[in-house]
Amino acid sequence: MHLRHTIPALAACATLALLPTAGAQAAPEDTKITIHAAPGKKVVPFCETHKCIALTFDDGPSTNTTKLLATLKKYKAKATFFVMGSQVKKHPLLTRNIVKGGHEIGNHTWSHPWLTDLSSAEIYKEINETQKLVKKTTGKTPTLFRAPGGLTDDEVIAVAAKLKLVRIPGTVSTKDYVKDYRHVDFLTTAALEAAGRNEVVLMHETVKETVDSMPKVLAALQKQGYFFVTVTKLLEGQTLVPGESYPQEEGASGEVDEGDQLTGPDGEV
Ligand SMILES: [Zn+2]
Repeated sequence: MHLRHTIPALAACATLALLPTAGAQAAPEDTKITIHAAPGKKVVPFCETHKCIALTFDDGPSTNTTKLLATLKKYKAKATFFVMGSQVKKHPLLTRNIVKGGHEIGNHTWSHPWLTDLSSAEIYKEINETQKLVKKTTGKTPTLFRAPGGLTDDEVIAVAAKLKLVRIPGTVSTKDYVKDYRHVDFLTTAALEAAGRNEVVLMHETVKETVDSMPKVLAALQKQGYFFVTVTKLLEGQTLVPGESYPQEEGASGEVDEGDQLTGPDGEV
């Protein structure tokens, strides 16, 4: 267990507002997303006073989603699902069920390409088509983005900024993208070792063994006093600049730089 981040609390959260900002690095037309408290109310961000962890599940929705949602519900856990547009198209009901369960949906592109191989227009299409379909399917437009394989460059960052998305690469991973690691006991141990306050844990809901490891993982972490929150809840109180990567921390990179590079461009892991 590590205490690798200190999330500064600047304000508290009740509504999401888009504020214009000048000179943000990621793109000139950037807006800052500040999560404000209701006027007159001073609310301390939940994770400032609670031991939070953000579990994230990539590449779905999938045939494992329903089982995962049931497990999360059992442990009163909220999570963030980085979905692919192509999978949302196949599974609109599962996509809605994720939102109905109180979980958050992030954008993981349409077809899981290595974005660094694409033109700016192609990157835009991959992300924007997913934005549109998630909005059409759930009524909510994602504000979070995770690049397949964690592969980003200036063009990817600029597109994310343009679409008012912050990047959430994850801070730790169970490495369930490695085929040899796909055993329930192994991934249970990996998740418990990766866990730490304010960590963003990268996993794949398309890995059955990850989903099967969740009951033990959630039970153990719950005993350790963790609250399972969405990424947005974890970042509550911070001023988020589209295009930038979160959570930000001093010192270490805070990114899972090995990401899920070993996943295939077809979205399989
Ligand atoms: Zn992925």
